[in-house]
Amino acid sequence: MSVQQTPDSDPYFPANGDPRYRAHRYELTLDYRPGPNRLSGTARINAIAGRAPLAEFQLNLADFRIGRVRVDGKAPHYTHRGGRLRIRPPKPVRAGAAFTVEVHWSGNPKPVSSPWGGLGWEELEDGALVASQPVGAPSWYPCNDRPADKASYQISVTTPSAYSVVAGGRLLTRTTRASTTTWVYEQSAPTSSYLVGLSVGKYQTVLLGDPGLGGVPQSGHLPAHLLAEFSRDFARQPAMMELFEELFGPYPFGEYAVVVTDEELDVPVEAQGLSMFGANHVDGARGSERLVAHELAHQWFGNSVSIADWRHIWLNEGFAKYAEWLWSERSGGRTAHQLAAAAHRKLSAQPQDLVLANPGRKLMFDDRLYERGGLALHAVRQALGDDAFFRMLRRWAAVHRGGAVTTTTFTSHVSRYTAEPLDELFTAWLHGRALPPLPVPGAAIPARPAYPPGKADSA
Ligand SMILES: [Zn+2]
Repeated sequence: MSVQQTPDSDPYFPANGDPRYRAHRYELTLDYRPGPNRLSGTARINAIAGRAPLAEFQLNLADFRIGRVRVDGKAPHYTHRGGRLRIRPPKPVRAGAAFTVEVHWSGNPKPVSSPWGGLGWEELEDGALVASQPVGAPSWYPCNDRPADKASYQISVTTPSAYSVVAGGRLLTRTTRASTTTWVYEQSAPTSSYLVGLSVGKYQTVLLGDPGLGGVPQSGHLPAHLLAEFSRDFARQPAMMELFEELFGPYPFGEYAVVVTDEELDVPVEAQGLSMFGANHVDGARGSERLVAHELAHQWFGNSVSIADWRHIWLNEGFAKYAEWLWSERSGGRTAHQLAAAAHRKLSAQPQDLVLANPGRKLMFDDRLYERGGLALHAVRQALGDDAFFRMLRRWAAVHRGGAVTTTTFTSHVSRYTAEPLDELFTAWLHGRALPPLPVPGAAIPARPAYPPGKADSA
């Protein structure tokens, strides 16, 4: 299947997303039967045309049977091939005008194949799970599949009553009729399509922390037989939440849920307001605590502050890696500097062919990107000093909350927190291939007293 590139489409995934319009709300009404793995859905998408009239546009959707498509209530012409639903409305949508698309689809959802294995909807032995990063979202719903196109979501799922449905966001209603239950979730914060998470399983729900004290509501959803291990492994998550709010600013969403599946997962998966872990990440000995910190940190870096396109993935993964180190440092483990030194030793022994600011599709999830990303932030911390570094991080999370950023957005942001030019640091860490020397503590460049004067801490 040839891929036609639209202007400004994602350089790594040109077939995904359509920059000619913007979606701002999805209402998904789904019916799912776990046994036969049968999904049928209706999507109502509110969107706005870009600067040019929209004679045609595309949604990404895997190989389902399409029942009906409407644009502003009228039947358009459409084709559905190679994971792309191309829609030509009866009349072009005017530039800048709002429009509504409705799509009905049904079939047996399955993962989208990718160089990293299957992505998106995954049928489990008894339930299902969605893990879409980076391009798995079309495996279960039609979307403008680009990380910068963020929208609010309402998701309604009807499934047999023995199953729990967990989605990111606030549970609005849960209604049981005969043998099925309908769960309706609302995620009002702007959300990238790949971060719409969903889990269907036989879970017990537990609350973490003490929301009565004004903290962020946190819940765990897990198979009952893992309760003892889970209680120990996630016991410190409320403390992590407090630490990250202190270091990064207020938690960006209304609630945080974690799901542990009854099966193994290669890696845990972040979604908006939700993270999913495998049974293998729970051992009752906090063996995966760094991953608990990593996934939580993505709520600020990756989910609230999103990347404009996939070239900038280090802004998600380097930050989440550095958050692991910060949690270790502040919870009595090894310091961030010790962990940075260990990562540096490891990277020194590996091929140096990775450019952090544009790693290429093949290396975007390479371990080296995570480690070097953490090290690049550590270098920035050494250059700014702790006070300016954490003011810079909090302001980054505040200014770009709900938005999408690039590496250049980041470097210009950082430059405001020091009088010294940081070009050399950025060139070496972000744009070069060779591994720069380990940044040493105490090499701090004096920070400006405050930036902008008197306003730096307001976030
Ligand atoms: Zn990550």
